[in-house]
Amino acid sequence: MTVPIAKLSFWGVRGSTPTVDPATWRYGGNTPCLELTAPDGTQFILDCGTGLRMLGNRWATPSGGGNHETHIFVTHYHWDHIQGIPFFSPLYAENNEFHFYSFRSKFLGRDSLKQVFEAQMALPYFPVDMSAMNARRKFKEMEGGDTFTIRENKITARWLNHPQGCLGFRIETPAGTVVYATDNEPGDPKLDESLRELAAGADIFINDAQFTPEQLNTTRKGWGHSSWQEGVRLAREVGAKTLVLFHHDPDSTDRMVDSLLRQAREEFDSVFAASEGMVITLGETADNVQAHMPGMRTTLRREAQFRAKVTGVTEGGKEFQEETVVRDISLQGALISLQNMPRLQSELQVTMETPGEDGLQSSMRLKGYVVRIDAGPEKGQSAVGVVFTD
Ligand SMILES: [Zn+2]
Ligand SMILES: [Zn+2]
Repeated sequence: MTVPIAKLSFWGVRGSTPTVDPATWRYGGNTPCLELTAPDGTQFILDCGTGLRMLGNRWATPSGGGNHETHIFVTHYHWDHIQGIPFFSPLYAENNEFHFYSFRSKFLGRDSLKQVFEAQMALPYFPVDMSAMNARRKFKEMEGGDTFTIRENKITARWLNHPQGCLGFRIETPAGTVVYATDNEPGDPKLDESLRELAAGADIFINDAQFTPEQLNTTRKGWGHSSWQEGVRLAREVGAKTLVLFHHDPDSTDRMVDSLLRQAREEFDSVFAASEGMVITLGETADNVQAHMPGMRTTLRREAQFRAKVTGVTEGGKEFQEETVVRDISLQGALISLQNMPRLQSELQVTMETPGEDGLQSSMRLKGYVVRIDAGPEKGQSAVGVVFTD
């Protein structure tokens, strides 16, 4: 008997607006887009933020998968949840068929999502008009309280507390249950209860964690978002197994998200901070949930032999210390003192000696692109900042 496995991929995790600030690259700057492949092969996409473009590009690769029939759920119509639509290349291929699900907005009326498509692609906002979108598109209206099935999977929608409305989704597959509840502010008793019902016993509970608990109580009250602390509280109350902090604030640097995750982990066992490229599988192991992080996406890797001492904390929470050898290192850049003054935005060849495991030296040659020049630590020297490019 084969074990049913579902796969959840994170293509965009940032809230409000995409970020390209290098301080946010590790968690990622694309706005919300998730892909869930159910054990029966049904493909779901949750939200159409800018992460959707990368998902579309993946389909174009030979092993990229992609289904000719896909079900796309849109939580609401704020920019960060729809902005990827015109850039999703599978929409322009006539063999594809998409089923879109979203609610009727009182500001747009009938066929709200269809109108969003047309408005986004109207002149002069986009160079190509709707007639170029050759894929078949079907639009289905849904609202809070709706439940239906798609093949083996049961879908439930509930209203969340967010300006102009927002839906949370629960998808129950034979491998486990995923609940997607982003863009929600706690504090409305009726909607809080509704979210508890939606999230009850979820294997993966993805929750809005845009603000710190302090911000949520003060300066960001009423903005329609939540915090890691609310997520932990809710996950505990409803018996959710794994909590995923989602919709990171565009002003939250990677270090800040690290700190939110650390605090959440002190209070709840299984928490992840959503990260672009992260994949969670459901049903594969005894504890049901397994997360995989992407390889370094933007950095250059080189083989090396550096002796190292490593200290850290084990999966079980124990501190450890170990001596080892670093064999593969990823490099982003370096600060180099030079007597010569290279030209800004020019290329340098940098060759470094690396001590081998058995005392033999070897060298590592890299191309560095000059990004900054300052006065060096000694007179007549400059401190040259390079980014390694190959
Ligand atoms: Zn949002
Ligand atoms: Zn929103």
